[in-house]
Amino acid sequence: MAADEAWDVIVVGAGNAALCAALSAAEQGSRVLVLEKATIEDRGGNSTFTAGGFRFCHDGVEDLRQDILDDMTEGEYDSIGNLPPLSEETFMEVLMRVTEHNADEDLANILIGQSRETMRWMRSHKIRFIPMFGRQSFKIEGKHHFYGGVNIEAVGGGWGLVDMLVQACERMGITIRYETGLRELIQDRKGAVIGVRAFGPDGYEDIMGKAVVLACGGFESNPEMRVRYFGPGWELCRVRGTQHNTGDGINAALGIGARPHGGWSSCHAVQWDISAPPYGDRVVLDNFQKHSYPIGVVVNMDGKRFLDEGADYRNHTYAKYGKEVMKQPGRAAVQIFDAKTHDNVRDEYRIREVTKASSDTLEGLAEQLDIDVEGLKKTIAEFNAACQPNAFESEYNPSILDGVCTKGLEVPKSNWALPIDTPPYHGYVVTCGITFTFGGLKIDTDARVLDLTDKPIPGLYAAGELVGGLFYQNYPGGTGLLNGSVFGRLAGKNAGQLSKAS
Ligand SMILES: Cc1cc2nc3c(=O)[nH]c(=O)nc-3n(C[C@H](O)[C@H](O)[C@H](O)COP(=O)(O)OP(=O)(O)OC[C@H]3O[C@@H](n4cnc5c(N)ncnc54)[C@H](O)[C@@H]3O)c2cc1C
Repeated sequence: MAADEAWDVIVVGAGNAALCAALSAAEQGSRVLVLEKATIEDRGGNSTFTAGGFRFCHDGVEDLRQDILDDMTEGEYDSIGNLPPLSEETFMEVLMRVTEHNADEDLANILIGQSRETMRWMRSHKIRFIPMFGRQSFKIEGKHHFYGGVNIEAVGGGWGLVDMLVQACERMGITIRYETGLRELIQDRKGAVIGVRAFGPDGYEDIMGKAVVLACGGFESNPEMRVRYFGPGWELCRVRGTQHNTGDGINAALGIGARPHGGWSSCHAVQWDISAPPYGDRVVLDNFQKHSYPIGVVVNMDGKRFLDEGADYRNHTYAKYGKEVMKQPGRAAVQIFDAKTHDNVRDEYRIREVTKASSDTLEGLAEQLDIDVEGLKKTIAEFNAACQPNAFESEYNPSILDGVCTKGLEVPKSNWALPIDTPPYHGYVVTCGITFTFGGLKIDTDARVLDLTDKPIPGLYAAGELVGGLFYQNYPGGTGLLNGSVFGRLAGKNAGQLSKAS
């Protein structure tokens, strides 16, 4: 292709949303260029840091075996006790409930309605999937019982997903240029987007394209924007993933009159090991997260509980509880487990890079972790007194919402409430780790970016984290990747068709 010739479709970013958009545009016969700000070693954005977990509609394991888990072994199949179906109604109910009924219904209908078909489409591009045996099931009588609505992951997790997507792009003849970041969008006199101004190893370059898909992430790695939208102190949170998602695509689009949309004052943020580095670590990946709090208790450094650990399944609470830790003294909290439940904590608690202490007494634990000793003793005494007698022996079941709750506490524990009374006691110190931001660009049901008058900006599409409107306050686990895949596929298809029509 001549240097001054326009590409059919330019895709900005090389995470899950962007690579799905590139594949889909290429299916339309378009010549596709992917621009990625990071180096090849750092590629894949937040998508690389994920567990690769996808939430999507299906009718259970027999259904999945036909076209999503078609290469699952007999041994794996036999080890499954229960893998519950996920209906469109349940997915929608959960999305609306956790977002306090703010999720954009048009986008939600596309996300959920196209979820199964999009997974099938990914499988057709040789993306492989397996059940999430390690993290989303409890073993009962030797069999895996899955729960919480996100039960399928890409083989190899986020790394595997990105590698498989890049290979699929290579098979489709898509060009990926690394170390080349979008700085501005280029428009013609009528306002249509006709290219991008990018900055790469040789400096600035104008790259022309008949359509542009923005899929270059949110602004979670931009401390100035975090403070601007979330408030003082947010420059100090840890970032769980890539350092490259600094809001470039959002800012470039807002700069040409795109409409901001969605939960700008909120984000996805979790309980994250307090010793974790400022940005994600590509070896430890998401293992700094600490997500077994539903089977323990969480206290701040004054020893006080401040959240309902058992309000719902982990998948429906973890994304909002980082923000609760952010409000505590020193932006810190300690998750405490006793011997009754500690064996059941998730794999991420067993890594070398963990900030923990153990003791046969609560005093000993508090002293080691700098928790106020009297505060902790009082809290645990009150908590234990509020638990139902003999719950461990009777109804307690961590794979369902068991209703084993405290009675009479100002901050209740609504499920899985067992007294903390059996030494040794284990404490894990966490802070807030931001995952991604909820505010972004407004798109229509064709993934076209809308302007301040709600008209599509010709030639401009968007997908993934930088689109606003689906998530507010909270988020159902496993929806971020699905969001990128569904809307990436849609944006790429429509951008490809536009490029072929012009
Ligand atoms: C630790 C962790 C675990 C997670 N686990 C899960 C999970 O199991 N399931 C799930 O559904 N979600 C999970 N998520 C959320 C998920 O990562 C995101 O929702 C999803 O990956 C976003 O995809 P994306 O393609 O929009 O963004 P990204 O994957 O972040 O891709 C954006 C890309 O754009 C690039 N970029 C940025 N600026 C520019 C620029 N100016 N020019 C060019 N390129 C640019 C970045 O380098 C990056 O490669 C997790 C996130 C983290 C951090």
